[in-house]
Amino acid sequence: MFDLIFKNACIIDGTGKPPFYGDLAIKDNIIVDRGKNLGSAKNVIDAEGKFLTPGFIDTHTHYDAQLTWDPWALPSPCLGVTTLFIGNCGFTIAPCKPEHRDLTLRNLTNVEGMSLEALRQGVEWNFETFPEYLNYLEQRGLGPNIAAYIGHSSIRVYAMGEEATNRSANQDEIKIMQDIVHESMTCGAIGFATSTFEGHNGENGIPMPSRLAEHKEMISLIKSMSLSGRGVFMLTKGLDTPIKTIKDWMQGTNRPAVVAALLHNPMFPNAMDKQVQSIKNATDEGIEMWGQVSCRPLTMEFTMKSPYLFEGFSSWKIAMQAANEEKYAEVLKSTELRQNMKEELADPKRVRLFNDNWDEVIVRTVKNDKYNKFEGKNLKQIASEEGMHAFDWLLDHALSEGGMETEFIVYLLNKDKSAVGRLLKSENTTISLSDAGAHQTFFCDAGYGLYMLDNWVKKSNLMSIEEAVYRLTGKQADIYRIDQRGRLVPGQYADILLIDKDKVGVTEPYKVNDLPGGAVRLTVDSIGLDGVWINGKRVVQNGSLVDRKNLSGHLIRAFHA
Ligand SMILES: [Zn+2]
Repeated sequence: MFDLIFKNACIIDGTGKPPFYGDLAIKDNIIVDRGKNLGSAKNVIDAEGKFLTPGFIDTHTHYDAQLTWDPWALPSPCLGVTTLFIGNCGFTIAPCKPEHRDLTLRNLTNVEGMSLEALRQGVEWNFETFPEYLNYLEQRGLGPNIAAYIGHSSIRVYAMGEEATNRSANQDEIKIMQDIVHESMTCGAIGFATSTFEGHNGENGIPMPSRLAEHKEMISLIKSMSLSGRGVFMLTKGLDTPIKTIKDWMQGTNRPAVVAALLHNPMFPNAMDKQVQSIKNATDEGIEMWGQVSCRPLTMEFTMKSPYLFEGFSSWKIAMQAANEEKYAEVLKSTELRQNMKEELADPKRVRLFNDNWDEVIVRTVKNDKYNKFEGKNLKQIASEEGMHAFDWLLDHALSEGGMETEFIVYLLNKDKSAVGRLLKSENTTISLSDAGAHQTFFCDAGYGLYMLDNWVKKSNLMSIEEAVYRLTGKQADIYRIDQRGRLVPGQYADILLIDKDKVGVTEPYKVNDLPGGAVRLTVDSIGLDGVWINGKRVVQNGSLVDRKNLSGHLIRAFHA
């Protein structure tokens, strides 16, 4: 007698092979059989007219802090994600000494756009070390399955204190960090994550600690990871970290490297194709490498209180350093800042988030009724109507009454269909970058998996549904060496999605204020996702959680080599 049988499903099993009709049987939390007439079960689900697929494996999220108050990592499981990775880019909350807690939260506020109030109210500091953090999550319980990176910026602050953000590490400090990486790998980290990306800045624009690491520090820490014989090196790379450098770092480790974030930029139409080619070359030469790409256009909603799109600009640093609102307003007035920013914006040498394309910045909603006429218009239009540079208009507007509250949306990257299609189809890329749990007031891409099936399979016909499902599930499990997940075959954990064959996707984003202290986040709902099972337990029905207390997720600690 099985616990559960899905009958007459159109099974897309995550191996990449074409869909087929059949039944799937589950006992306890494991898929035990598939085929026809399998026998009886306590619970039978008629899956006629539905796809049955493995749950999505979201390899790039930032739920590290949220998981301490929300074991479900909402909204991801409601959007078909059954396994997710935390600690990406090296921004973790463990290890963390008590005296560095507030610094850690203030950095997260800036680098990952999280509400400081929500973090201060929400984070449960029941741990200091990384093993303690994992034990805490496991004992408290988890909605989805979680795998965690040990994060470079956190271990740097642990070893060096506040100086982690302003100097290179000495040999003793590197040794402390190496020991932490080793300990973390032994207790179940999925790998070691870091960032050299110029847009990753903590409080007051101070670079995130990992950006200060010299080559020898990087090499030492990657080596520590590899000593365990397991582990993935994850890097969000900056302009000064070419693929060749990463290749040098990985030399002799026999471990894979995952490189983020390969987003298409119209100013440099072939830059990402070249990176993918370098990644392919490295892999062909024996250094396994994967490019992390996104199936979503990168859009951001923002106000001028915290315009993330400018943070990669060196001229904007002075604005990020402003200690309070008054000082910030003064900086926005300064002609020097405006001049420098305009020059930097006009200089197309460097790849970055925003490239002077003001027609992609749109006024969404205004607070002050006086400005109603601007709603829905882009800044290029407005600037030409007002006879001024768009950047001046933006800053003047911010300084006017209620202007700091005006909400903008900007289409930053990854908009070109054929270019993004090439990245998604490459053999050397991995589809990810939802950034779920971060930037929650700017965008919500947690539903990227359903969007992939809707936009790139149904609407654009870029690839077959079995290929898309494979890339979102089985291929992820393979790249990251996760056992028994990512495929609907006997012996695997029952992480399963039941999806309407005719309609699948996500809604437009909308706001909810359910973060600690009532802070706002953007979220989306699923379309056509009838059910989600995690380790054999049904956790989502018609888009909503079945029972918040039903924490069936596992902390994944074992990975193969
Ligand atoms: Zn990230």
